[in-house]
Amino acid sequence: MTADIIDGRAFAADIHARIAREVAALTAAHGIVPGLATVLVGEDPASEVYVRSKNKATRAAGMASFEHRFDADMAEADLLALIDRLNADPQVHGILVQFPLPPQISEAKVIAAISRDKDVDGFHVENQGRLAMGRPALVPCTPLGCLMLLRDTLGDMTGLEAVVLGRSFNVGRPMAQLLLGENCTVTTAHSRTRDLAAVCRRADILVAAVGRPGMVTGDWVKPGATVIDVGINRIAKDDGGTRLVGDCDFDSCAQVAGAITPVPGGVGPMTIACLLANALTACCEANGLPAPEGLTA
Ligand code: NDP
Repeated sequence: MTADIIDGRAFAADIHARIAREVAALTAAHGIVPGLATVLVGEDPASEVYVRSKNKATRAAGMASFEHRFDADMAEADLLALIDRLNADPQVHGILVQFPLPPQISEAKVIAAISRDKDVDGFHVENQGRLAMGRPALVPCTPLGCLMLLRDTLGDMTGLEAVVLGRSFNVGRPMAQLLLGENCTVTTAHSRTRDLAAVCRRADILVAAVGRPGMVTGDWVKPGATVIDVGINRIAKDDGGTRLVGDCDFDSCAQVAGAITPVPGGVGPMTIACLLANALTACCEANGLPAPEGLTA
């Protein structure tokens, strides 16, 4: 069997287009322009690329992009003061502080400082708690993107066995909660799980978010399963360059799975699309308007 490829790039492009239409309609009907503030501290090259892409996508969707950049020696107090100002700014509906931060700044303090209503990364303890309680919340972008791809691929997931590999607060844990919300029977596996391969082979839905290149091989996959590969790992090529691979060994998994996301071009593009979706949702909620359907959990 050869799996269907889940085209996250095309799906994300549709979401960007949909959000641009929703933003235009919001502006025309109510004079509201959703605004997203991004904060980049330091010169980490990967972070620079991510933030540039996020700012560009924000502007392309017709939203206002408020871009803040600081040197790596920025004091924690100055960043917290900026967050206070952004929390109070009615033009800003979402705040994204790019991680990792330099060591003198506590990421936990930054997450706690961002208003939960503007927490478009879904990291605030209140949003994570609401998600765990099955209540409406701003949900971390990457698992929200995975959920959208799964809904599109499978429709109703009631009763399916789902295994999430990884238990980070930004991917694994919220992913497990979202699948529970879809009425799946959910197992969360991690580095201490015994016989990982056997656990994975039970899964109708297998989400891999471990950061280990090619760890999941075809013999871990139940025939016909839907495999979502969150991993983004840069590995060396024979010619001295590098390439991106996922946490799943694509070739062997695709022989067994019913559907699979490639890396790149699967989950990756969904993350920025869901950031914009969260910014739009936050803006609608701030203005007492219903959030557009299909862009939330
Ligand atoms: P973390 O490092 O925060 O978490 C990794 C998780 O994997 C941990 O729960 C860890 O278990 C588990 N794990 C590590 N090694 C093993 C192993 N050998 N067997 C079983 N479990 C293991 O990573 P993230 O969740 O932030 O990211 C995971 C991957 O997803 C990375 O490749 C990252 O680059 C990618 N990513 C992609 C995004 C996208 O936009 N597509 C966005 C975010 C992340 P334990 O808790 O026991 O240590």
